[in-house]
Amino acid sequence: MKTVTTLEALRAETDQLRASGRLALVPTMGALHEGHLTLVRKACSEARHVVVSIFVNPKQFGPNEDLDAYPRQLARDRELLEAEGASLLWAPTPDEVYPAGYATTISVEGVSAGLCGANRPGHFDGVATVVCKLFNQVRPDMAFFGEKDWQQLAVIRRMARDLDLQFPHADAIRGVPIVREGDGLAMSSRNAYLSVEQRRQAAALPAAMRRAIAALAKGAESATALEQLSSDILKAGFDSIDYVELRDAETLAPIHGPLDGSRLFVAARIGGTRLIDNMPLV
Ligand code: AMP
Repeated sequence: MKTVTTLEALRAETDQLRASGRLALVPTMGALHEGHLTLVRKACSEARHVVVSIFVNPKQFGPNEDLDAYPRQLARDRELLEAEGASLLWAPTPDEVYPAGYATTISVEGVSAGLCGANRPGHFDGVATVVCKLFNQVRPDMAFFGEKDWQQLAVIRRMARDLDLQFPHADAIRGVPIVREGDGLAMSSRNAYLSVEQRRQAAALPAAMRRAIAALAKGAESATALEQLSSDILKAGFDSIDYVELRDAETLAPIHGPLDGSRLFVAARIGGTRLIDNMPLV
C-alpha cells in the first residue's frame, strides 16, 4: 500500500488504479478502529481498489472543539490499512487541501439543520466541503460511510444529488451499519478521551436508547419515552444532553405523528467528550 500526500501523486496513482478496476473511497479522520476497518473491508469486498483518506479536516471543527487534541496515529493506521489490503492511503496536509486563497464552502440546507447541525454550527458545511473535494480528488466509483454518523450520510447523499456528482451506480454512496463494542457503545475515535470510569458509564447510553425503543414499541408516548431516556442518560453519569430526538430516517424531518420510518438520535456529553448514537425503531 502506497501513501501519497500531494494531489499530484494522488492523481498519478488513482489514474493507474482506475485503469484496472473499480475504485472505492473510504474517507476517515484516522485513529482507526474496528468501525473504520469494517468500512474498509466492505469496500474491499465490492471494489478492486480501495483508497482510504486520513485527514483531520479543520473546517468541520468549531473554534472550541477538539481539533488540536484529536488523536493522530498515522504510522499505526498505516499498518492497519496495509493488513486489510487497502490499495492507497491519501494523507494530505491541511495546506494541500486548503491552499492559500481557498474560498469555497458547500452548504447543504435542510438535512444539516437540527441534531448535530444545531450543536455544531458550520460542522456539516465543513463535512460537505471536504467530502466533495475528496470525491473530486479521488474520483471513486463508490464511497463508504458509517451509519454512526447518520446525519452526515444524509448530508453527503443530498449534496451528491444536488451537485450532480457523477457515479457509475445510483447506490454509489454506501452506508455501513454501526460497529459497537461488546457492551453496546458505538465505536468512535473519541472514546479514547474517556477515563475508565467514564467509559463504563458511557455504555449506559445505548442501553437506555434500547429501553426507550422497547417502550415506544409497546405504545409509550414519544414525549414520555424521550424524557425517560434523557433522565436515564443523566443518571448514568453523563453531564449534559445535546439532543434526544426522533426524526424521519431519510429526510431527518422532526416527527409529529406516527413513528413509522423514524429513527432515534442522541448526542450527550460525558466529561469533555461528546458521544453520538442512533438506532432504528423496532
Ligand atoms: P471519522 O474518522 O470519525 O470521520 O469516521 C470515518 C468514517 O467511519 C465515517 O463514515 C464514520 O461514520 C465511520 N465510522 C466511525 N465510527 C464507526 C462505527 N462505530 N461504525 C461504523 N462506522 C463508523
